[in-house]
Amino acid sequence: MTVPVSHPRKMSLDLRHRLTDAFERGVVASAGLIAHGRGEAFDYLLGERTWEQAGEAATAASALLLAAEKPAISVNGNSAALSAAEIGVLARVTGAKLEVNLFYRTLDREERIRDVLLAAGADTVYGVGVEENTVPGLESERSKSDTAILEADAVLVMLEDGDRTEKLKDMGKKVIAVDLNPLSRTAQKADITIVDNIVRALPNMIESAKELRGLGREELRAVVGAFDNERNLKEMEDRIRNG
Ligand code: ATP
Ligand code: MG
Repeated sequence: MTVPVSHPRKMSLDLRHRLTDAFERGVVASAGLIAHGRGEAFDYLLGERTWEQAGEAATAASALLLAAEKPAISVNGNSAALSAAEIGVLARVTGAKLEVNLFYRTLDREERIRDVLLAAGADTVYGVGVEENTVPGLESERSKSDTAILEADAVLVMLEDGDRTEKLKDMGKKVIAVDLNPLSRTAQKADITIVDNIVRALPNMIESAKELRGLGREELRAVVGAFDNERNLKEMEDRIRNG
């Protein structure tokens, strides 16, 4: 559906239609539409813009992916529907592997998401057809991890469940989350949380990664070390409460 250019809420409605179209194609789960609504509410309260805290978090996140030995990006239906092209570019710039990981998991949806990523330029997509629960202590379908995430030392997650974030951290991995809700368990548990819409956060991460990729590991680690996630989250929460 095309929203007229003059419509004052065009951007927001266009994103909704990307999701409803992807739902009709079997890429997005019905509950994914509701999850988007929760994100929209926070985005509205934040003025639908990238605050400086989110920019700083995106820089630290890119540095963390570049410094990692084996970075991975976890992709679900909503992130594929909204940002497949940017996910492919970020993977290329940071050397991260892509893996499909779903809460409402079906093989059909895994294959469709893989195909969306391949059509957007990704080379290899992991995580399709894994039958075993491989993340210790996690009982949801998200426990079915493939080698990209299992071997990763840093994982980027979007629209994530707090319990998997926790379990990935228990496995010794660093977790970066993009989550518009600074109060969610995911946001609170991640090492770096970008409180921004993925449609803005991923282009910012790509830009930072391009700027940082000439740095050595130690310099990248210093960028990560200078970032304070707890303070960043508190400042974003204050923006919502007082803004
Ligand atoms: P948690 O288990 O971490 O507490 P939750 O149960 O609150 O999370 P879920 O429904 O599991 O939330 O996941 C949706 C999350 O993704 C919400 O926090 C929502 O704000 C966020 N979200 C939705 N759409 C976007 C988007 N486009 N960009 C960034 N974040 C988003
Ligand atoms: Mg949840």
